[in-house]
Amino acid sequence: MSANEYWDKQIETLSRAELEKLQLESLKEIVNFAYHNAPHYKRAFDAAKVSPEDIHTLADIAKFPFVDKQTERETQGIGSFLGEMCAVPETDVVFVSASSGSTGVPTLSPFTKTDFDEWQDVESRLFYMAGMRNTDRYVHALNFTLFVGGPDVIGAQNLGALCIWAGTVPSERLLFILKEFKPTIIWTTPSYAWYLGETAKKSGIDPAKDLSINKIIVAGEAGGSIEATRNAIETLWGAQLFDFYGISDIFGACAGMCEAKDGLHIVEDHILVETVDLKTGEPISDGKQGELVLTTLRKHARPMIRFRTGDIGYIDRNTCSCRRTHSRIYITGRKDDMFIVSGVNIFPSDVEYVIRGLDGITGEYIIRVSDKNFSAQYAVEVEKQHGSSESDEALAARISNALKTRIGVKPCNVTVLADGALPRATHKAKRLIDERKLNFSI
Ligand SMILES: [Zn+2]
Repeated sequence: MSANEYWDKQIETLSRAELEKLQLESLKEIVNFAYHNAPHYKRAFDAAKVSPEDIHTLADIAKFPFVDKQTERETQGIGSFLGEMCAVPETDVVFVSASSGSTGVPTLSPFTKTDFDEWQDVESRLFYMAGMRNTDRYVHALNFTLFVGGPDVIGAQNLGALCIWAGTVPSERLLFILKEFKPTIIWTTPSYAWYLGETAKKSGIDPAKDLSINKIIVAGEAGGSIEATRNAIETLWGAQLFDFYGISDIFGACAGMCEAKDGLHIVEDHILVETVDLKTGEPISDGKQGELVLTTLRKHARPMIRFRTGDIGYIDRNTCSCRRTHSRIYITGRKDDMFIVSGVNIFPSDVEYVIRGLDGITGEYIIRVSDKNFSAQYAVEVEKQHGSSESDEALAARISNALKTRIGVKPCNVTVLADGALPRATHKAKRLIDERKLNFSI
């Protein structure tokens, strides 16, 4: 592999021992900084009877209390505009993004100038890892309004790509941009990549032949890491798909796929990643599935010490075939979206894996979770592909069996609808409808 395979070869291929040494130095510094500058951390560490001096190894992070979205909401606006998790004066803050706030008050994520510049260098690294070069034309089709993903375009620009700041324009307008300017790379959500490709086809444009997109970056939903979904989008567009993982409380993207497409490399010089048990919060070993907990190692405006992401996944710390030493994370679902049927944990992504892998259906689906006799059950709605001669009953039975094989539990019902009957998601798709009256939260 030649030297220009990496954006920052020195840091990306650092030996594990050196990388962990660097992480430990950064961790000690940031925990100390948070304790002495952010009122929340002072109070929380004192209450848990821990202090920055208790960190001798990376594993010592487990002694410290968690923060989550709720902590952000409760401390925002207290004492100062940016609240008690903020560790710098407002005069040092140059940028804030706001979370989408789908489940409450939007929270602000502040950056100092250094935080912002380092974040964009991380974005350059991830773009480069996905194959972007200065010869590419790049369309940034993410929301620019308050959303942390908006400024990520600067990372592509710093890399030298020709950047088109499209934002979330209507699909006809975006297709016009794709046709006229012939960009090679686009970033959007998996749902929208699928929707846009289908929309193009309906207007007589074959995305694989008539457009010049050869790489699609996706984030915001599980689809990019579900092989069947990835293959379907890649075939539709005649392009390679790379999944990125972002968290609005930290960076637009903090992990991304390399050409091996085997998990997402997380930028470990900036972020310490742990997995913990969903219920007890106890650390669990690498390779085992749990909730991902992230600690920012370099962000000073609002350090995140043990942030519970609500994302479920596992970690592989072995060196990748691309020779990068930074861990790969595998996201398997959102804690909020998981439901339990007959003792089996089911993620919508499991259902999607099956639906997108079967022929005779469009790939669109809705999952309805309900309760009956004090237990949860799930039903699935799908669309039969236009022109299919298979009976609805035969198709429903085939889907039901495929779900049983993959997940272990049959759906209580499979409803077969006509092609086009389900709403097309233009951005973040809401495919799980929870109709339970009982609280099954974990
Ligand atoms: Zn790799």
